[in-house]
Amino acid sequence: MFSADRAPNRTVLVLTLGGTIAMTRTAATPGVAPTLTGSDLVGAVPGLQGTDEVTVEDFRQLPGASLATSDIVSLVERISRAIREGFVGVVVTQGTDTLEETSYLTDLHYQGAMPVVFTGAMRNAASAGADGPANLLAAVQTARSADARGAGVLVVLGDEIHAARHVRKTHTTSPGAFGSPNTGPLGHVVEGAARFHQLPKPVAPLPLPVGELPQVEIVTASLGSSGTLLKGLEGEVSGLVVAAFGVGHVPESWCSRLEALAAAMPVVLASRIGTGPILTSTYGFAGSESDLFARGLIGAGTLDPYKARLLLAALLAADTPRTEIAKAFLDRS
Ligand code: ASP
Repeated sequence: MFSADRAPNRTVLVLTLGGTIAMTRTAATPGVAPTLTGSDLVGAVPGLQGTDEVTVEDFRQLPGASLATSDIVSLVERISRAIREGFVGVVVTQGTDTLEETSYLTDLHYQGAMPVVFTGAMRNAASAGADGPANLLAAVQTARSADARGAGVLVVLGDEIHAARHVRKTHTTSPGAFGSPNTGPLGHVVEGAARFHQLPKPVAPLPLPVGELPQVEIVTASLGSSGTLLKGLEGEVSGLVVAAFGVGHVPESWCSRLEALAAAMPVVLASRIGTGPILTSTYGFAGSESDLFARGLIGAGTLDPYKARLLLAALLAADTPRTEIAKAFLDRS
């Protein structure tokens, strides 16, 4: 820890996990692949070059799609060590494909006030208008902000500051791909400073699991689907998330299978829409939200299916009793 008479430490730890931000053309692959090191990334940022206020560590070098939940458990352990080492904040660079999930999983387990900021890039380092350097700089500036302390895990892209618990990737290619459809951004980075308009409500962290999280899968409702993917799940998965139509509806033909599954494991009802809440008591037909709750499903509130899946897995890893799982979804959405 730093004593009061020492200059405040301004050093940010940058942990790199790969992704488009670290991708460039290689002789070995037909398209771009993650090859750039953390030093390469920082070295490409006017404003960070040559500073001793950034320490870089290459943590993984993977496309976002190949990161595992065990990588994120190790990341949370590394971030916790960074607090003890006296860093002012941590920036994580990684692929945008899974950034909304990895940052949320980190947010579920991270215990500390030190700012933790995830960022990435939509355009690779070899392309015109690569957004990686500007995103990295804005993330470092946010990680240094006193206002970011205790704000939970943050995501900064395109000069917008988002809460990991609300952020979604909303476009496949646009540099403005990240948004928080339910809440809007927490703030913006303006002239090198993080300016917050709102802060997320504090929630208690969940215990960090050892190794892989319990297996939870998502089954999505779609027009005329027979629900065949709901078969044979008992014993294969520890929990299920249903990505339902609209406010929480599935085809009537799914109901008895979902009821049987809900007797065997927690089954969470989320919406495939990605914005807005699951309702609780508006519709009453077979396969409606109130029918599914009566059959034992648990509501995800405003959590989208991907975040709901991670929350359920983290709760199961902590041996959370069924009644408290439902309460945790209420408290955290
Ligand atoms: N398209 C992704 C990205 O923006 C690739 C990845 O997630 O690794 O980083």
